[in-house]
Amino acid sequence: MAGRTQRVVVVGAGVGGLTAAADLARQGCAVTVVDRAAGPGGKIRQLRVDGAGIDAGPTVFTMRWVFESLFADAGTTLGDELALTPAAVLARHAWALGGQLDLYGDIERTVDAIGRFAGSTEAQAYRDFCARGADMYATLRPALMAAQRPNPWSLGARVGWLHIDRLLRTAPLTTLWTALGQHFRDPRLRQLFGRYATYVGSSPAFAPAALMVVAHVEREGVWLVDGGMRRVADALQRLGARHGAEYRYGTGVARIVVAGGRVAGVELDGGERLPADAVVFNGDISALGDGLLGDAVRGAARRTPRHERSLSAITWCLKATTRGFALEHHNVFFADDYLGEFAAIFGHREVPQRPTVYVCAQDRGHGTVPAGPERLLVLINAPPDGDRHDFDAALPEYRARALALLRDCGLDVDDTGPGIATTPTGFARLFPASGGALYGPAARGAVGVFRRGAAWTRVPGLYLAGGSVHPGPGVPMAALSGRLAAAKLLVDAGA
Ligand SMILES: Cc1cc2nc3c(=O)[nH]c(=O)nc-3n(C[C@H](O)[C@H](O)[C@H](O)COP(=O)(O)OP(=O)(O)OC[C@H]3O[C@@H](n4cnc5c(N)ncnc54)[C@H](O)[C@@H]3O)c2cc1C
Repeated sequence: MAGRTQRVVVVGAGVGGLTAAADLARQGCAVTVVDRAAGPGGKIRQLRVDGAGIDAGPTVFTMRWVFESLFADAGTTLGDELALTPAAVLARHAWALGGQLDLYGDIERTVDAIGRFAGSTEAQAYRDFCARGADMYATLRPALMAAQRPNPWSLGARVGWLHIDRLLRTAPLTTLWTALGQHFRDPRLRQLFGRYATYVGSSPAFAPAALMVVAHVEREGVWLVDGGMRRVADALQRLGARHGAEYRYGTGVARIVVAGGRVAGVELDGGERLPADAVVFNGDISALGDGLLGDAVRGAARRTPRHERSLSAITWCLKATTRGFALEHHNVFFADDYLGEFAAIFGHREVPQRPTVYVCAQDRGHGTVPAGPERLLVLINAPPDGDRHDFDAALPEYRARALALLRDCGLDVDDTGPGIATTPTGFARLFPASGGALYGPAARGAVGVFRRGAAWTRVPGLYLAGGSVHPGPGVPMAALSGRLAAAKLLVDAGA
């Protein structure tokens, strides 16, 4: 690195912050990570219920290549740092209207399952859908996901103007819901694959067709992490710590200090100052736009208007006995009117009366069936209005709605205690300025891609990493954003 050691403060120990810290520390920066939470992970949280740790945030671990290259660059291997088991069944799906379908990594196995579920025409439609998703992924992975934030011109240049047909095949002007309608006649399959819009906090009605790639990504592998997702955060912290990065928890950053027109450090909640040549901000970018990090950096990022926020959620971590339905590790229980749910959330700003429910049965998936009460994460989508509405007040009602839908799909849940619930109100508190939106701005059409923040800002020395900036939300994508922020910072520092 040219000149003296760069001092970098990373604000936030979410996946993006931890990844940036690891990359920067191993390349010679003096890195301090500061987070208001009690430990690493951000949205990767584990809560204790009846003495058992239950993952309360992300549970689906995909895009293994992102972590393989991160760990290899740090001189170790993913296998040495994390124990991963491939999920034999990617997810089990059931419908209140009737029917049950498992998805597998092996296309032909899923083709058979869909054939039995919905007939041979739909099975062939699934084959075509897979081919289209793979084609989109081959275009978008190098040109979009792993590259600094593109604009339409740079994206075209990366793909190659002579191959512009590849970009056109990603159907930039089509919504996911419309594109799925071109493939599937069975509304349940449209619903199933439309749900991938929620992985980026969006609605299938306005998410771009390119989100078909999520199905492809899952076919490449869904992994169960031994010890739960918090082990991913622990492993990322270990990578940085080995190269001297320091981690301070239980203290927030009150202000990013700017002097002489560039970042000069941060001021902690208690008033202590940490000088720095650069800062990587890993919180929701709206916190900058809202002025929560001080007026000097207010213009560094655009605050996400309420109507552009992504989904929030209501989650319950439970120890419960289940009956009537053989759970897999990942399970989705669909209500009848899928688009109606999103209209309730994004239009009427209400929790749906009959919500689709995701259940992560965390003791399952390794070929074992728990004998007694088991660890569950139950999740429904909710409006990102935790800063203006007290969702905690109606929790019993929301819980009754979720459990009723599960019952309609054949699953009875008898919990041994109240468990721990988190509503948009709770998420808004945990992730300042988000309103409880869990994925930054919601993906809307193709142009939305180009509106996400880049890794750099107009304030020299201030960089951004995390799910609210390019390339977007999700554990692997946030990790990619951390890598992009570190790379840009090092280029600017002349490293
Ligand atoms: C319920 C739920 C389920 C999900 N399911 C999946 C899934 O299955 N698969 C998947 O890939 N993704 C999933 N996601 C999304 C994924 O968890 C996130 O996209 C990703 O973890 C976000 O990482 P991040 O880098 O943006 O940091 P975050 O996790 O948002 O962390 C940011 C950190 O910054 C800290 N911070 C903010 N401001 C300050 C400040 N001023 N001072 C100090 N600290 C500050 C916060 O305390 C926080 O710890 C899910 C998310 C949730 C909530």
